[in-house]
Amino acid sequence: MITLEEAQQKILGEIVTLPSEIVSIWDAEDRVVSEDVLSRVDLPVFDNSAMDGYALRASDQGVYGVTGQLGLRVVGEVPAGAAPNCEVQEGCCVRVFTGSMLPAGADAVIMQEDVTVQERVEGSHGPLISIKEHVKPWENVRFQGEEIKYGSVIFQKGGRLKAESMALLSHAGVDTVKVTRRPIVGILATGAELIEPGQPLGPGQIYESARLAYAALLKEAGAEPRIFSIIPDTLEDTCNAFKNAFEECDWVLTSGGVSVGDYDFVKAAFEAIGGNSVFWKISMKPGKPFGMGRLNSGKLWFGAPGNPVSGLVSFHLLVAPAVRHALGVPASSALPVWRTGTLGSGIQNPGNRRHFMRGIMDIESRITPLPKQASHRLSSMSGSDLLIDIPPASALEAGAKINYTFFN
Ligand code: AMP
Ligand code: MG
Repeated sequence: MITLEEAQQKILGEIVTLPSEIVSIWDAEDRVVSEDVLSRVDLPVFDNSAMDGYALRASDQGVYGVTGQLGLRVVGEVPAGAAPNCEVQEGCCVRVFTGSMLPAGADAVIMQEDVTVQERVEGSHGPLISIKEHVKPWENVRFQGEEIKYGSVIFQKGGRLKAESMALLSHAGVDTVKVTRRPIVGILATGAELIEPGQPLGPGQIYESARLAYAALLKEAGAEPRIFSIIPDTLEDTCNAFKNAFEECDWVLTSGGVSVGDYDFVKAAFEAIGGNSVFWKISMKPGKPFGMGRLNSGKLWFGAPGNPVSGLVSFHLLVAPAVRHALGVPASSALPVWRTGTLGSGIQNPGNRRHFMRGIMDIESRITPLPKQASHRLSSMSGSDLLIDIPPASALEAGAKINYTFFN
C-alpha cells in the first residue's frame, strides 16, 4: 500500500497537459488558459473624470469661482462616449460626467456637489459656477494606463477563468482566449446489483449513484464526462466496456469492482485489454481500494471504489487534481489545499490508516466531524463541507488542531 501523497505524485506524474484551443470569451467561463493573456489597451483607455462635475484648472480656484468672487464660466460639455470639442482655458470650466474624456487644459474635476451653478446671464456664453470646496490638482482624474498598460499580462497561464477575471479580460479588449482542451472522461459503473433510478428494484438490487456524482464532479473539475451503461460483474463485460469507452475518451473512471472480492474484475479487465497498473491500494480510509493505470497510448484509467463515500472522497483527493493538472494547472495548485483548523468536538481514529472524515465548519470556524462516518452512508457526504485528516491511532480532544480541506 502506498500513501495518499505517493498516489497523488504518481498520478500527477502520468498526466500530460492537453492541447489548446481558442474559444470566444463568452465560452471561456471556468476554462484554464494556456498562455498569458495580454491587455489590448491601456486601462483606463484615456484620462477621464471619476465624477459628475466640472473639469477645471486647479490653479484658477484661488482667483475665480470662490463664492462671492468671479465665477468660472462653463464653456462646454463632454458626455461619456464623446470627444471633447473645447479646451479649458483660464477662467473656464467644462461640464463632465463619470467616464467623460478629460478636456485639454483641465487638471482636476470638481464634484457637482461642491459648486453652485449661478443663473445664466442673458447674452453670456454659458452659466457660471462658484466653488464651495476646492479640489487639489489632478483630483478626481483617472489617468490613462494607471491600472494596466497596453501589452501587459492581465491573466496568467494555468489560471482558471471566473466571472471577475472574464470581466477584466473583456474590459481589456480581449475577445478570444487560448484554453486547454477539456479531457473527455468516460464513467463506468460496475455492479450486477445496480439499477437506474426510476426502475423497480428486484431482490438484492440498489439504485446506482456514482455516475451522476462523478459527472457533476468531473464537470466542476473541468472535464467533459461521458456516461456509459451499468456493467455486470463479469471479466468479459468489463473488458468490452473498457474497450468501448477508451475508443472515445481520454480517460476512463470506473466505479466499484476494484477490491479483492470474487466479483471484482476491473483491475484484471484493465490489464487484459493491455493496460499497465501504476498502483492499486492506498493507505487511507475510506478509499483504500483505488487503482490507476495507463494504456500504451497514454490514456489513463482511474479505478474508484464502489462504496459511494469512498468513491467521492477518492475523487476529491485523486481524480479532481488529475483533471486540473491535465488542464495546465501546476501540480502544487492542482492538489487539494489543506488548512489548519480547530476541532469543535473530540474524535478518535483507533485504526492504522489515516481517516478522512466528512465534517462541517460552524459559524465560529470550528470543525466538527459528522456522526455517521461509515463508507456506505452517503448522507455523511451530502451534508458535509470538508474532509478532516485524522491521523492513525489518535484520540483528539475538542480544541485540537487538525488539517482539513474544503470539497471546493
Ligand atoms: P464494490 O466496490 O464493487 O465492491 O462495491 C462496494 C459497495 O458499494 C457495494 O455495497 C456496492 O453495492 C456499492 N456500490 C458499488 N457501486 C455503486 C454505485 N455505482 N452506486 C451505488 N452503490 C454502489
Ligand atoms: Mg461491485
